[in-house]
Amino acid sequence: MGATGPAGHHAAGPRGADVVVVGAGIHGCSTALFLARLGASVLVLEKDHCARHASGVNAGGVRQLIRHAAEIPLSILSMGLWERITELTGDDCGFESHGQVLVAECDEELEAMRERVADLQRCGFTHEELVDRRELKALVPAVADHCPGGIVSRRDGAAMPFRSTQAICRAAQRAGARLLEGVAVNGLKRQADRWLVSTSAGEFSAPVVVNAAGAWADRLAAAVGEPVPLEPIAPMLMITSRVPAFIQPVVILRSRKLSFKQFANGTVMIGGGHLAALDRDRNHTQIDWRKLQESARTVWELFPVMRGATIVRAWAGIEGRLVDDLPVVGASRTAPGFFHQFGFSAHGFQLGPGTGQAMAELITTGRSPVPIDGLDVGRFARGRRAQPPV
Ligand SMILES: Cc1cc2nc3c(=O)[nH]c(=O)nc-3n(C[C@H](O)[C@H](O)[C@H](O)COP(=O)(O)OP(=O)(O)OC[C@H]3O[C@@H](n4cnc5c(N)ncnc54)[C@H](O)[C@@H]3O)c2cc1C
Repeated sequence: MGATGPAGHHAAGPRGADVVVVGAGIHGCSTALFLARLGASVLVLEKDHCARHASGVNAGGVRQLIRHAAEIPLSILSMGLWERITELTGDDCGFESHGQVLVAECDEELEAMRERVADLQRCGFTHEELVDRRELKALVPAVADHCPGGIVSRRDGAAMPFRSTQAICRAAQRAGARLLEGVAVNGLKRQADRWLVSTSAGEFSAPVVVNAAGAWADRLAAAVGEPVPLEPIAPMLMITSRVPAFIQPVVILRSRKLSFKQFANGTVMIGGGHLAALDRDRNHTQIDWRKLQESARTVWELFPVMRGATIVRAWAGIEGRLVDDLPVVGASRTAPGFFHQFGFSAHGFQLGPGTGQAMAELITTGRSPVPIDGLDVGRFARGRRAQPPV
């Protein structure tokens, strides 16, 4: 696509644009921002409101740590953008960089981590560092004594999810993108060299459409003849009462489905992958307190300082998970002018800005600035499995 700039907007009229983006989560908004900065006229259509779903209610983890090899280039690109998020959006988005630490609970886990870090280094990635018991204690003094070490990614951190997504959206709008909320896309038709996009508010048209529809994206993919094995899921989070400051980095335990971080006000957010029941057509989730109790018990065992804390609230957000836990990022294999950016499988917040930049360049120049081949939608059509993790 040739970017046509503001003139393209006027030529296309209020119901047309160079690019229609479906979904105003962090992915749709980031792509809209970078496209608008490249001079394209962009229309973002959102069935609810900006940041209503996963992008507004997640744990805010800005993490390069423990990513699949296919995602690492996008994650590194994104990290650089998070580090200048104020310049990019005019808001610091609550971004703080205190590192993220993966804790090993036994020697076998530490050995597997040692192999992972060595593999990454052989591929030229140096963001993950193995740490021994002493260094782990220095990073996370409150961790239980039996933990023999772990991995740290020092530039990682966390941001405020709702604020970040809204800030990116506002920046996109300042750059010229238009956002229509409460407008659900319910049909797509290719006519000559344009997409006719049917919605609850009438028809729009554009030569290019981006499917950034999160947990609902499989429906748009199917509508253009590219069915994908997406499962809507609802990961849960909970917040404790205040406890004395005891931890700065975000901490992750792999084998026990746990991640947590302490806020400046002393409250602790606990998550890690336990799922609520959901009905995506009604935007409804139902918390499973029994599973949350398991996470609370793990924290109780590993961090004695938390034993006096109580849980003050819990929630869940609706997210799309693909069968191989990797997103789909790139051009459609069947539909001209159609691009996919969805299925972030509960780890897509950090990837938002970088994927937005990559997608905008892919659309306007035909090339992504970083490799995205392992995230191609064709991996499902061919029945091929994703590459194994490094
Ligand atoms: C509880 C929880 C904790 C998480 N923690 C982290 C974390 O710490 N770090 C991390 O990196 N990731 C985390 N994630 C994952 C992260 O939140 C998501 O991967 C990311 O926000 C996905 O962004 P998105 O823009 O693709 O989707 P969404 O934010 O879901 O946005 C998609 C939007 O598309 C709209 N839409 C759908 N269909 C249509 C349609 N037909 N017409 C118009 N609009 C439509 C939806 O209403 C929605 O607003 C977490 C997720 C959850 C739920």
